[in-house]
Amino acid sequence: MNRLDHWSGVESRSRAELRTLQEEKLRLQLTALYRRSPFYQRKFEAAGAVPEDIRMLEDLAGFPFTEKQELRDSQRACPPLGEHAGALLVDIERVHATSGTTGTPCYVGVTARDSALWREAVARAYYSQGVRRESVVVIGFGIGFFVGGIPVKQALAAIGATTVPVGTGATDRLIDTLIDLQADVLTCTPSYARHIAEHLLARRGIEPSDLGLRRVLVGAEPGGGIPAVRAALQETWKATVTESVGNGDVIPIHSGECEAQDGNHFLVPDMVLAEVVEPSSGAVLDVDRGLTRGELVLTHLDRQCGALVRFRTRDHVEVRSDPCPCGRTGPRMVCLGRTDDMLLVQGVNVWPSAVKDIVGGFAPRVTGELRIALDREGHHLDPPLHVVVEVNDRAAIEPGEIERELRGRIVASCSVSFVAAGTFPRTQTKEKLLWRRDLDPDPNSAGA
Ligand SMILES: [Zn+2]
Repeated sequence: MNRLDHWSGVESRSRAELRTLQEEKLRLQLTALYRRSPFYQRKFEAAGAVPEDIRMLEDLAGFPFTEKQELRDSQRACPPLGEHAGALLVDIERVHATSGTTGTPCYVGVTARDSALWREAVARAYYSQGVRRESVVVIGFGIGFFVGGIPVKQALAAIGATTVPVGTGATDRLIDTLIDLQADVLTCTPSYARHIAEHLLARRGIEPSDLGLRRVLVGAEPGGGIPAVRAALQETWKATVTESVGNGDVIPIHSGECEAQDGNHFLVPDMVLAEVVEPSSGAVLDVDRGLTRGELVLTHLDRQCGALVRFRTRDHVEVRSDPCPCGRTGPRMVCLGRTDDMLLVQGVNVWPSAVKDIVGGFAPRVTGELRIALDREGHHLDPPLHVVVEVNDRAAIEPGEIERELRGRIVASCSVSFVAAGTFPRTQTKEKLLWRRDLDPDPNSAGA
């Protein structure tokens, strides 16, 4: 590995050097925001926080958090972009929408400068994952509204790679493109990468590995960080699978893996400040003290439209800051899941992604697809945790085998039942592992 083969020099800058830059940018960003955004004026005043008083990064802890619901309310009160936007529509180059898990989309506007920074951020991540000028990349992400569409296309163009923006909803066309153009890179969600592989085998009779893809770059949902999911994808495609992580309200990609495949480096220290907080108290955790687990909180350092301060991403991450052979200094994080998805069984936190990882370990007897069945609203579950697992061969496996493994590793009582391979709908966008069985008893549409 070439030690300093990075897209931007900022990726290998020392933390001390970055601190000076970040403190300066933070002061400027908060001061500008206070002037431009009635939303933040009110919030800062209510908290007694004065932007000019920012001397060091730690002073940010005196500023209030921003919750997603506040952004929705702000847009409802002041359409279309909200009181927090701090920019006029005439200055906006493009408007995206973030996928609203609650149904209401949130509009995200970018100025020309914001858009250029997004392109730069995404280019760092794709370059770190091995995309070069010679690469032929097929994009299987939604190209339209989704924040990960157009910015990915622009970043790949900046790198100079050849891109084929197929998008979602056209699996056969995507497969034809992979074959006709002899593409070496596919980028999409991990669940779509799996769906394409299944489609190739079942409908076209082609082994995915025969396509000769070298890399599958996944993102937009946690799968790529789940060891069993990654291992299965690498085995199926015989390709290197790496992931990147972003946040639609903040930046399409803030972290991406290098070739060491050992967690996502935070790649945008000059654009966004990352904090990890203890979710219930909001206390800031020190990521330099070994392995830290908590909720990722992001603050823009350089954003004209819709800059956010201490935005609660609801992403639970595990962060390490030990050195990496690639020379990038950004701490590495793995996303464990979303707070909204976390279940509580007998006082134990259970991540659906952890369940998926454990069940995936039984492949090829299981397909790796599963749903956690819920019988009512809410995240507190009465035991046992009911997991419905797709199996390839019912004769080859007993539910008890998976139950014992789940019980041993997630320390909650579990019951497992089986359904046939192909029962659960495959998704081309974001996968849902939770199934409200009381609302929709048909497993063939669970999580669709
Ligand atoms: Zn690295």
